[in-house]
Amino acid sequence: MKKFATKLALSASTVFAFGMISSLPATAQDQSGWENANGNANFLRCGTRDLSDREITLINEAVQKRINNAKKPDRPGGGNGNGGGDGGGDGGGDTVRPAGSVTFDTVYHVICDDAGNNCDSQADVDAQMAVLNNAFAGGTGGTATPFQFNLIETTYTNNSTWHTAGQGSAAERAMKSALRQGDSATLNIYSYAVGGGLLGWATFPTSYASDPLMDGVVILNASVPGGSAAPYNEGDTGTHEVGHWLGLYHTFQGGCNGGDLVSDTAAERSPAYGCPVGRDTCRKGGEPDPIYNFMDYTDDSCMFEFTAGQSFRADTLSIQYRK
Ligand SMILES: [Zn+2]
Repeated sequence: MKKFATKLALSASTVFAFGMISSLPATAQDQSGWENANGNANFLRCGTRDLSDREITLINEAVQKRINNAKKPDRPGGGNGNGGGDGGGDGGGDTVRPAGSVTFDTVYHVICDDAGNNCDSQADVDAQMAVLNNAFAGGTGGTATPFQFNLIETTYTNNSTWHTAGQGSAAERAMKSALRQGDSATLNIYSYAVGGGLLGWATFPTSYASDPLMDGVVILNASVPGGSAAPYNEGDTGTHEVGHWLGLYHTFQGGCNGGDLVSDTAAERSPAYGCPVGRDTCRKGGEPDPIYNFMDYTDDSCMFEFTAGQSFRADTLSIQYRK
């Protein structure tokens, strides 16, 4: 388990507007105090775009369907315990697949500038992959999820335009169109000098069908382990963005209404920065905010876990949309 830095927060920031669920009241983003405390105003943690209502509906339906299946008795009448089992098919919906049983092929695209500079080395790539796998295996203290990631290729490209491609830009589309490999079950990571102070962004599994070439995860090259983007340089940007790629929301999605739709992550009103131990922005249940969760905005040294609920949700969406 990681050590917890207790870093205090500086300025308020209103740049984050993740009002993804429009039916829920918008959270107040301009409150004083640590609710919007930004431990490092040089970086914007994540630029993953808002989901459309349609996507949210699709995701919620998939999750609810699996939950409903889990509540069904295995066999009507029951009693003899063993009469042919479930037939194997949808009966598997009641539990998360075993830890480490689902491996996604991963292609890691390193984008250097025209001169071949300012980009991750193979050692950086390997270190990022190790962090990613350890996080999803529960090796830092969270739930051991079904997911692992197998690096099948690292590509290197010298292109100064792609090297700083912004989110939603023509350069991003050109880059991904040229480089993306595999299908919905292939994780494509793009690492470069993301502009605008962003650490990264990702696409959700529900977006694959409508725009498969854009599917994947973008991370700031300096966010890899040992990179220069302190306090976001332990590789957890990659972990966070892959969480989105598997369908997870931010823990502060929907604010105090618990809009991340995961029952075992405490609701929080707004992103947490630094590592504000004891922060509790939704004082209903007395549960502190999930500042240690990979899907919050805290420093890399602070976040170390996915929950069982997040594992279930990601597994459900993965079965439906990836593998
Ligand atoms: Zn995010």
